This record gives sequence, C-alpha cells and structure tokens, in this order.
Amino acid sequence: MGAQTDVLHLSRDEIEKIQLEGIKKTVVDCYENVPFYKKSFDDAGFNPYAVETLDDLKAAPFVTKQDLRDNYPYGMLARPLSEVKEIHMSSGTTGIATVGAYTEHDLQFWGDCFARGIRYAGGTADDVFHVCYGYGLFTGGLGAHYGGLSAGCTVIPMSSGSTERQLRVMRDMGSTIIACTPSYAMHLADVAIEKGMNPAQDFKLRAGILGAEPFSDNFRAELERKLGIKALDVYGLTELMGPGVAIECLEQKGLHIAEDHFYCEIIDPATGETLPDGEWGELVITTLDREASPVVRYRTRDITRILPGTCACGVTHRRIDRLHGRTDDMLVLRGVNVFPSQVEDVMETFPEVSSWYQIELTTKNSLDNVTLKVEINPDFDFDNIGAIEKLQAAIQKRLKEQLLIKINVRIVEPKSIARSEGKAKRVIDLRKGIYND
Ligand SMILES: [Zn+2]
Repeated sequence: MGAQTDVLHLSRDEIEKIQLEGIKKTVVDCYENVPFYKKSFDDAGFNPYAVETLDDLKAAPFVTKQDLRDNYPYGMLARPLSEVKEIHMSSGTTGIATVGAYTEHDLQFWGDCFARGIRYAGGTADDVFHVCYGYGLFTGGLGAHYGGLSAGCTVIPMSSGSTERQLRVMRDMGSTIIACTPSYAMHLADVAIEKGMNPAQDFKLRAGILGAEPFSDNFRAELERKLGIKALDVYGLTELMGPGVAIECLEQKGLHIAEDHFYCEIIDPATGETLPDGEWGELVITTLDREASPVVRYRTRDITRILPGTCACGVTHRRIDRLHGRTDDMLVLRGVNVFPSQVEDVMETFPEVSSWYQIELTTKNSLDNVTLKVEINPDFDFDNIGAIEKLQAAIQKRLKEQLLIKINVRIVEPKSIARSEGKAKRVIDLRKGIYND
C-alpha cells in the first residue's frame, strides 16, 4: 500500500519525468522490435532516438485499430512469445479481432492499475470483491480479478450470467465491491427487486467499479439508489491493457488516468492536432512500460477531454471526463465538432421533452442548417402552442450556449419520430456534397 500511495501522489514534475522516460523507451522499443513501427516511423520521418521532450511525441504517427487488425495475430508483438504469459482479444464483432499480449510485468501493472479503483472506493483486504464481468478473452473478468488480488481483497470469480446465483452468492458471501458492466449491475438490481429483495439493505455492497460501456449520470443515480452503492466508472480497452487505464475516485468528477503507465493526448479527430486541456476531442494514448504490446499514439476513437485542475481526493494523476461517445458519431457543423451526446446532455436538462430525438442536416445558402426534432413527453400538453414555442426557444438558446452553433428546435408529438428495431435514427444528413453528391 505504501508504494502504491506514493505513486498516486507524485508531483507533476515527477509524473512527467516518468512519462518522458517511458515514451523514450517505448518508441525505441517499437522501432527496433516491431516492423510495423519501423516502417510507419520512417515513412513519417519520425526519429525515435531524438525524443527529448513530451512534445516531441507529437511528431510520431498515429496507430489505428485497423493497423492492429492488419497485423493480426502476432505482428505487433515487441517480445518473443517465450516472454508472453497471457493473450486477450477484442470481440472482433466488426472484423478481425485485435490482440493484446502480456508479459509477467504487463500482468502485474494491469492488476496494480485496476486495484487503484478498488482503493479509490476505500477497498482493503477486508473487502469481498465480486467479479461478474465475463472471464475469458474479454479483458473485463481477468483484469478485475488481477485488480482484486493486487488490492488484497477476497476475490469471487463469478464471471457473467446466472443472475439468481450471482445474487445468492452476493448475499451469502457478503460481497462488498462489485465489478461488471453498468447494464448488468442494473439487471442484477432489477432481478433482486423482482424477487422481493431490497439490495440496498439486504446486501453488503457499497461500491461498484463499472465499465466496458458508457452510462449516463441519470442511469448511475438510479443504480446507486437501487444497489446502495457508489458506482465508479472505469475505462480501458483491449488494445491498451483492458480496464484500469483510468478510473473514477469517490469524487466522481472524472477518471484518474494511470499516468505512470499511460500518456494521454486529446486531438481534434478531423485534423489530428493536439487540443489544450479542457477541450473535447479524441483520446490518443501511448503506453509507457507495456512490454509485449506497446502502442504509440493509439487513436481510441473515444471522445473525452482532459479535466483541468486538481482533484479534491488528493490523487495527482490527471483526469479524463466520462466518455462522450465515439468519433464515429462526430458531426462537423459549420466547422464546429459536435457530438450527439452533447445535444442529449442539453435535452436532459428539460424534463418536458423525451430522449427521442433526431438531428436533420440540410444545406441552406451553402451553410449547414441543423434542425433538432425532439418528442414532447406524453404528460406535457402538446396543444398549448404558446408553451411549446417558449420551450423550443429555451432549448435552442441553451444549445447555442453549450455547442456554439445555431440549431433550430422543433418539438414534435410523442411517437412521431420513426423507430427501427426500437432505436431512433439519430442523425439524418441531407447536406449536399457530404453523402449526397
Ligand atoms: Zn480524485
């Protein structure tokens, strides 16, 4: 615990020193041991031996998920298989899987990083840590497992599924901290309530370390109430390590990056330029001491921002904000990057409208014209034209304040936006020259 505590309270200078050393080592390691990096560095004119400041890393080319896929299965390994102790893979639902390999050292710091989340939640050797992420090639189960061991907890390796059995074990064993996806945590809570239990009282749960999918603040509040826990968000992906790259503390104001193992940048996904702290963009990560599968400037396609300032919990590692969707969802409107999730955030502040909406893009006088259609909540009077117009104007004003662009708001009747397979199509792009030449 002592050494761990110290790592979490290093000064900015100390952290940056570790990061610079890590970057220097990683870029040379990649260049000398992974043919892909040799070629991509040479093509970009990036000299890995000339890195002297953190800023010098900006000259290195990005790595994408496609690059990792193209080098499936072992092309990105920087160590011989004899040193690799474990392999994980992404699900590969949209194509070939990406592979993450771990040496003994890599596994050790993975556990160490995840264990930070358990410590942020106040976890100690007295805690019963209940893992219901799936075990297997997916990084969730074993990542959390190693974290539980590293934090000294009693680990219950439940894996996913068998909900009733999960609940029984959770109650009988007195599980105190749970690790799973937020949607599964909600499912556990709902099934427990259905069975006549009151999980907030009947269980000893007090914290959840939840990840692998985004969840809204409203969803979190409901989950915390139902289970009687503090729900902490955990970020990670197979290409980098798995869960534990960044984890929320009890302040719940952003996720502390494990900055002694990962160097984060935020870039404008359209131009690739690095953005200053506080601005939303795509998260790009370089590993600092990953041996088997190092990555240099990996484009995560996840949208977040680096939160300026320090955290009240005292941990000195910088924080990223909770994820705000994927770059695949990004719209460029009148030169401004906009994510549908930002629009959702604004609408969440108006109880009169539902979460069913559609953004329609057209071209007017050669400029992007944006219309947001949003359904009124059924219990709000749609026939009160005066009130509707006032509400439209209020939403429009707040969107302009938040997103800095003009969006025409049209409130429509409940169920008037077309659903396909239970989901609404969020964006309809009718602009000339974008998809409709
Ligand atoms: Zn904190």
